[in-house]
This record gives sequence, structure tokens and C-alpha cells, in this order.
Amino acid sequence: MKPVTTDFQKSHVPNAANLNNAWYHVSCQKLNLREKAPSVNAAYDALIIGAGFTGVSAALKLAKSGASVAIIEQHALGNCASGRNGGLVCSGFRHDQKWFEDKIGALAAQDVWQVAEAAKAHLRANLHEHKIEADFETGLVFAAHSKSTLDWAQKDAEHLTKQYGYKALTNLDNAECANALGTDVYWGGVRDDGAGRIHPLKYLFGLLQAADNAGAHIFEKCQAQKIVETSTGIEITTNMGVIKAKKLLLCGDGQLEGINSQVEAKVMPIGSFMIATKPIEDEFMRGAVGAMDTKFVVNYFQRTRDNRLLFGGGEKYTPHWPKDIASFVRKNLAKIYPQFADIEITHAWGGILGITPTRLPFVRQISNNILVSAGYSGQGVLLAPFFGDILAKVILSEKSPFAMIDKLPVPDFPGGKFMRFPLLTAALSYYSILDKLP
Ligand SMILES: Cc1cc2nc3c(=O)[nH]c(=O)nc-3n(C[C@H](O)[C@H](O)[C@H](O)COP(=O)(O)OP(=O)(O)OC[C@H]3O[C@@H](n4cnc5c(N)ncnc54)[C@H](O)[C@@H]3O)c2cc1C
Repeated sequence: MKPVTTDFQKSHVPNAANLNNAWYHVSCQKLNLREKAPSVNAAYDALIIGAGFTGVSAALKLAKSGASVAIIEQHALGNCASGRNGGLVCSGFRHDQKWFEDKIGALAAQDVWQVAEAAKAHLRANLHEHKIEADFETGLVFAAHSKSTLDWAQKDAEHLTKQYGYKALTNLDNAECANALGTDVYWGGVRDDGAGRIHPLKYLFGLLQAADNAGAHIFEKCQAQKIVETSTGIEITTNMGVIKAKKLLLCGDGQLEGINSQVEAKVMPIGSFMIATKPIEDEFMRGAVGAMDTKFVVNYFQRTRDNRLLFGGGEKYTPHWPKDIASFVRKNLAKIYPQFADIEITHAWGGILGITPTRLPFVRQISNNILVSAGYSGQGVLLAPFFGDILAKVILSEKSPFAMIDKLPVPDFPGGKFMRFPLLTAALSYYSILDKLP
């Protein structure tokens, strides 16, 4: 049976099955999974919807602990956001720590910071334990596009150093930032040696391979279409048949419309776009492996191991994606790197990521047997694998910071089922206009 296209996919995002390959797909070894998983008509301790970082990491932890677990993925493995993102491994969450202190108090803000730091240790442990070679290197610059954002970023860096004991930050003035990144368009910035860049598809495939080795069943092109909670567990209707499980993990990020209304109300999908240049002969980013800037519609970029510039810039909040992604992103690239305005672009692609109204992940137990973690709002490379691991620990009754992160404030998007998308589009478009003001 062919996977159905949900109303959501018809109405709000292009079908991810048809997305262009990212440069990552041609620079990564193919997966070598065990023989095809057996028929879906089995009963599992846990079933996971979505084979991105969240779902695969949860599956890995569960399988390693001896639980019977299956992941279902509606598209080809690696085609999700986790396999086609900017690869920036950022510190903390999408807000500075002062924001957390104001909203949840100084002590809880310390706990939030420690969760993100623990996610870094989890990343390193994963790479080491499963021997994943994913081009991970540290040295990320947060570059300021205005005087006011420079002042804010550098004050935040001082606050993190003094109050949180985080010693990895160095303030950069205009010349130092220009030297680090090879562009003088920024006012300055902050270099973070605890953050970095990774080849996300190599990391995802490494985790998938490890989950497969540990015994997880992986069903590709298998779409969850309906969930029924029974007195003993869950029944999930898919295009391959009905699967039964004791527990269900929703790891579909912003793509769960029609599957669960609670997640739908809080996590919405947006499109983000990237290009890869040909390898650049001159050394163009001497003091960093990647960067993101302070714009609302953020520019983010990394230097690959073979000296390409991977550049992300431009977002879409509607289903109408740019017909020519390379030209769409090149305009933003040319503003940051005028010297590369006409450079050869070898790959151009887009992806779908989930955002929440507060830009904080939505991590909850939403019923007796269903848990969710989604909506990392652009910080999922570091957080999603760690939060997947946390979901698994909840099922296994192991200690984890779940009780703290499930209290992070994530209201519904305003507007209800029908007005959420128009209101989101209007609001985000307004903020993106502010980026253009001096
Ligand atoms: C272009 C781009 C650039 C980005 N850059 C960065 C960055 O530099 N740094 C950073 O930290 N974050 C970045 N992100 C965000 C990051 O990629 C995500 O936060 C993260 O990958 C989310 O992981 P996930 O596992 O929750 O979701 P995903 O990786 O999206 O995986 C969810 C999977 O669930 C599947 N699914 C959904 N519904 C169903 C269903 N009904 N049945 C079966 N399967 C289903 C989907 O097909 C998908 O494969 C970027 C995202 C994009 C798109």
C-alpha cells in the first residue's frame, strides 16, 4: 500500500519524500542495516514514530537496555531535518539565561543550562561509544548584525562566565570576528569553544546503525496514520498494517498533524534552506568551524572538512517553497560573503523543522502510554538526541531530568486549528522585516 499524504502535508509543507538530496547525502556512507525487519504485526515494548535524532536516540537507548522496540519512518531514512540541517551544535537553548531567570527563577535556570551541557557530554559519549566519525569539531561564532545585538551577546557571555562558570566563551571585536569568519559584515561576536559543527547525516546514520546493531526494528516508508490507546497499550494503524506496543513515543517533530492534536497545537513546521559551495581553495574561515548570526531569520554556516561553505539563510512559513532554492539562499550568502557571490553551488536543499511559541522544546508525557519530544526550534542537533534518550529513560524508569524539562513553558500557538498558520506567518514575517532595519 502507498503511504497516504495527510491533509497537513497537502496543505502546509511539501512532501519530504520529494526533497532534493543535501550535500550530506553524497558525502556519507550508506547505511548497512541488518536484514529487513520482520513484519510489522508484532507487539513491542515501545514503538517510535519518526527516525530523526529524537526517535533514533530513544530507540538506541531502549534496545541497548533489552526492550523490544521499533521505529517507523514515513520517508526514506535520513531524509528528515536530522539528516539535512546546518550541523551547528549550539550551547544552551534559544533564549539567553537571563530570560530563563526571569521566567522560571535563578535556580531552575541553572538546571536548564546544565541540561544543555549534559547534552554535549551525551553527544561526545555517542561518538565515542559507537565509533561514529561525524566530522565533529568545536569553535562556533555567534556573530552580531548590529551594535545592540553585539552588546547583548557580549553581556550574555560575561553572565555565563560569571554566574554559570562556563569558560568556553571569548568576546570578539569587529576585526577579530572578521578574521575568524573571513567577512567584515558583522559588528563583532562571541566565539564558543564548547559549541561546534558536525556532519548531521553521518551522526544520524551512526546512531541508526548502533540502534540496528542493538536490536531495534527499523521500518522505512511506514507511516503512522491513526493512534488508538487501549486499556493495555497502543494500537497504531500504518500503511503496512497495525502495530501494537505498550508505549508510544511521538518523535515526528512538526509533522504530526492529524496524528496528535496536543502536539499539533504547540509545534508547527517551517521550512529552512541551505546550499553547499564547491570546495574553496583559499582559507576563508580561519578562526571557526561555523557560525550563526543574531538575525531573527538567522544566517547559519559551517566550513566542511573538505573546505566547502555550507550556508543556510532564508525561511518559509507557507507551503510555497522557493522554486530555485540555490538563488533564494545565494542572495543571503552574497550579503555575508560578497567575495563568493558568484561561486559555484553544487547542492541546494530545504528541510522542515518544528518550532514552538516560546522556542522551547515540547517534552511531555501526554497520556499514560504516550510521550513526546519535539519543537527544538533550531537547536535540535544537540538537544534532540539527548531528549530522545531522556524519553527512553522515562520508559525504563531510570533517573533523568524529565521532571524539569517537562515544565518548560510551551503554550499553544494562538488561532486554533484554522488560524494558527496565517497568524504564525504574519508574526514571523513581521519579525523578519525587523532584520532589515539598521
Ligand atoms: C535546513 C535545516 C537547518 C537546520 N539547522 C540546524 C542547526 O544548524 N543546528 C540545530 O541545532 N538544529 C538545526 N535544525 C533543526 C534540527 O534539524 C531539528 O531540530 C532536529 O533534527 C529535530 O529532530 P527530530 O528527530 O525531532 O525530527 P526530524 O529529524 O524531523 O525527524 C522526524 C521524523 O518523523 C517522521 N514522521 C513524522 N510523522 C510521521 C508519521 N506519521 N509516520 C512516520 N514517520 C513520521 C518524519 O518523516 C521525520 O523523518 C535545522 C533544520 C533544518 C530543516
